[in-house]
Amino acid sequence: MMARQVFAASLLAQDGESMTETGSAARDDLAIRDPRVSDRVQKFPESVIREMTRIAALHDAINLAQGFPDFDPPREMIEAAKRALDAGYNQYSITWGARELRDAIARRAKAFNGIDADPEANLVVTCGATEAMMAAMLSLINPGDEAVIFEPFYENYGPDAIVSGARPQYVRMAWPDWSIDEEVLKAAFTDRTKAVILNTPNNPTGKVFGRDELRLLADLCADHDVVAVTDEIYEHIVFDGAKHVSLATMGDMADRTITINGLSKTYSATGWRVGWAIAPTTLASAMRRTHDFLTVGAPHPLQMAAAAALELPESYYRELARTYQAKRDAFVHSLQEAGLDCRLPGGAYYVMTDFGRFPFDDDWSFAMHLIERCGVAVVPGSSFYGDPRDGRKYVRFMFSKKDATLAEAGHRLRGLRDGR
Ligand code: GLN
Repeated sequence: MMARQVFAASLLAQDGESMTETGSAARDDLAIRDPRVSDRVQKFPESVIREMTRIAALHDAINLAQGFPDFDPPREMIEAAKRALDAGYNQYSITWGARELRDAIARRAKAFNGIDADPEANLVVTCGATEAMMAAMLSLINPGDEAVIFEPFYENYGPDAIVSGARPQYVRMAWPDWSIDEEVLKAAFTDRTKAVILNTPNNPTGKVFGRDELRLLADLCADHDVVAVTDEIYEHIVFDGAKHVSLATMGDMADRTITINGLSKTYSATGWRVGWAIAPTTLASAMRRTHDFLTVGAPHPLQMAAAAALELPESYYRELARTYQAKRDAFVHSLQEAGLDCRLPGGAYYVMTDFGRFPFDDDWSFAMHLIERCGVAVVPGSSFYGDPRDGRKYVRFMFSKKDATLAEAGHRLRGLRDGR
């Protein structure tokens, strides 16, 4: 088995107790053959999502693998960044974030999410939501603590768990509507559970968690004294009139939730690496320490530009959701026309597809066919599952691309149906 196919299996095997045949193969295949490398890093490979971007470039394929736009951030934000560079914001900011940005985040969290955050006590600005998630896990987890993770899950949560020493407890979201079995969720919470990772709107499924699901999750967190780490980076990309709900606003969850967000998706600026976390005071203090020694701080001029972006009018967010919904409708139609089985995602900009009507052994052989023969890159479904075998019928497409790019991808994918 290829190393990248068995990455998730290594998660199963990391504590040695739940070692499976696949898991032991994973350890061998993942090994960097140098004994100086730490055991921890031997347990995860490079990101498959980022790897697919490199393979796409080699084949000159349209990159519908890694989730980033091929269009620009809002003009106001770019101009604000230029002004900040000229105005001397070129040295460190306060390590947990420029005050202007923390103020803007607090205002926005109150107005949009209904979350109260004191900029002096509850905010940590990080190098993207990716750092915020890792800093949250490092600040919460003792090796051996359990973390509940909804599956399929965004790839990063695997290494986040390995590096922090968490033992993942997966709760399946079922194809095709990504529903959750309440009893399975309840059973995943034990007296060893320290954290639950929630990503809504969800990558890779597009699921937008409903109020009932969030209420159940809040009850379980309260009953088991668990901290929720919520990745809400797609909060403005929701469709069909749905509203994003932050778990921190349910019951007393503000006292036990770390709410993570960032510029990348809302402002189409994945390369800027500006993210943040809102947390109860003690947890924010812990995250500030962790963050300080990981990165010292996020880029100061870009933080100043982020503060300006957060003041954009409501019409900006409405237009963002409207634009993405139109892309979703057109692109999912193209996928279905091409013979792929999928449903309309409720949010975010990904769509998982079942390619079962085509004769391929697994997700990697289908993905490589798509790149080499159709010129379209996707992410193999196995990257999103604890046991990669559970994802071998799926591939993930993303649609954060110009209409013309998506139309060309749709055109190329018609070749699949025509046997090309
Ligand atoms: N979140 C995006 C994805 O899932 C990009 C991930 C990344 O490369 N940081 O594709």
